[in-house]
Amino acid sequence: TKHFLARVAAHEQLGAFLCTDETVALRQAEAADARRAKGEAGPLVGVPVAHKDIYVTADFPSTAASKMLAGYRSPFDATVVAKLAVAGTVTLGKLNCDEFAMGGSNENSAYGVARNPWDTRRITGGSSGGSAAAVAAGLVPAATGTDTGGSVRQPASLCNVTGIKPTYGRCSRYGMIAFASSLDQAGPMARTAEDCALLLTAMSGFDERDATSADQPVEDFTAAVRAARAGATAAQPLKGLRIGLPTEFFGAGVAADVTQAVRASLAEFEKLGATLVDVSLPRTELSIPVYYIIAPAEASSNLSRFDGVRYGHRAQAYKDLLEMYKKSRSEGFGPEVKRRIMIGTYVLSHGYYDAYYLQAQKLRRMIADDFQAAFRQCDVIAGPVSPTVAWQIGGKTDPVANYLADIFTLPASLAGLPGMSVPAGFGEGGMPVGLQLIGNYWKEGELLHAAHAFQ
Ligand code: GLN
Repeated sequence: TKHFLARVAAHEQLGAFLCTDETVALRQAEAADARRAKGEAGPLVGVPVAHKDIYVTADFPSTAASKMLAGYRSPFDATVVAKLAVAGTVTLGKLNCDEFAMGGSNENSAYGVARNPWDTRRITGGSSGGSAAAVAAGLVPAATGTDTGGSVRQPASLCNVTGIKPTYGRCSRYGMIAFASSLDQAGPMARTAEDCALLLTAMSGFDERDATSADQPVEDFTAAVRAARAGATAAQPLKGLRIGLPTEFFGAGVAADVTQAVRASLAEFEKLGATLVDVSLPRTELSIPVYYIIAPAEASSNLSRFDGVRYGHRAQAYKDLLEMYKKSRSEGFGPEVKRRIMIGTYVLSHGYYDAYYLQAQKLRRMIADDFQAAFRQCDVIAGPVSPTVAWQIGGKTDPVANYLADIFTLPASLAGLPGMSVPAGFGEGGMPVGLQLIGNYWKEGELLHAAHAFQ
C-alpha cells in the first residue's frame, strides 16, 4: 500500500486520481494484515485498488468528475466497492473519468484531463481514463471502471491494460452513479486477464438492491481461466475455439496500424489452436445513432435528480424555485452533459418519441439478434476496440467525431453482451492497440480463458 501510495504521489501529473487518502488506505491495509495473520488470506486480501469516481464510497468523496457533486460524501458504499472490500482489497482513492461517464477521452472531466502514460500528450480514452492510466502507469495493480458504451474496453485498449465488461446484470449497479441504466455495467481493469478474473469474481452477483442485477450464480472466473478446454493440448490450449471476425469490424474505417496489430494477434490465436471464421454484424454502423439516442434519453431522466435540492451544487442567488433549478444545473453540469440532456429530452418529447426513441429501441433488438445469428457460427467474436490508437489531447473537438470512435464497442453494449479488451501490440507512434473479444451472454469465463491463453 505504501509503495503504491508513493507512486500515486510521484505521478500526479497524469491526472489519474481525483483523490487519495493515506489514512484510510493504511487503516484498511492494517485490517488486511490482521486478516492474513488470522489465516483468512483470500487472493485479494491486502491488494491495493482504486475506484472510478462513478462508484459512491463512504470513505472518499464521490463526484462523477462533475462540479455538480463537488465535495459530495455518500453515506454508503456501492455494492461493487463493498464486495471488493469484503474480499480484502485496500482502496487508495478515486479515479478520474469523463463527467458522469459521458465521453471517450476523459477530456470531459470537470477536474482536468487524464494523460496517457505511453505519451502524456495523448488521451487515455474514456470514460474510465483514470482507471486505465493508473493501472498502465503501475500506480495501482487493479482498478474498477464502468462501461455503458465502451468505457472499460476503450481506455484499456488505448493504455495497454486488460479490461472486461461483463454481461449486463452480472454486477450490481447499486451505488454506481447512473448514466444510462439499461447499459451501465461495472468492470475490472488490470494488467492481465487472470487479475481481471480475480476481481470480477469478487465484484459479481445478484443484489436485491438492483432490480436489473441477474440471479445468476457467482462463478469462479479464476478457475475458468485455468481450466483446460475439452480436446485441447498443451501446445494448442484453444483448440476447437471458433473466433468470428465480423466483416464490418475490418473495413475502411479502421486505421491500418490497428488492423495490422489486430490481425497479428489473431494469427497468434490460430497458433494456439483457434480457427477464424468470417461472420457479419450488418447493423454495426447503426449502433452509433441507436446508442446516441438511447443513452442520452436515459441520461436526461437519470440526471433530473440533480436539481440543487436533494444532491450537489446549489446556486448562490436566485429569485424563485425555477431560477434555482436553472442556475444550479447551468453551473453544475459541463457542456457534454448538457448536450446529452438536451438530446435526450428532445428524443423523448411527445412529437419525436416515435420517430427517434421507439425506432432506436427496435433497432437495438435487431442488433442483439444479429449477434445471436453470428454466434451460431462461432464461440467468440473478435475485432478492434477502437478504430485508431490514442489521439492528441484536444485533437478531436467535434462531439460527433468523438461519438464515431465508439463504433466497435457500442454493439456489444446495446446487446448486453460481455466484451473485453486485451493488449494486442503497438501501432502509430508506439501507441497501444487493443483486441476486443465479445462473448455470448454469461460467457465471461470463455473470454477470460482465451485472453489468458493468448497472454
Ligand atoms: N464513449 C461513450 C459515451 O460517450 C461511452 C461512455 C461509457 O461507456 N460510459 O457515451
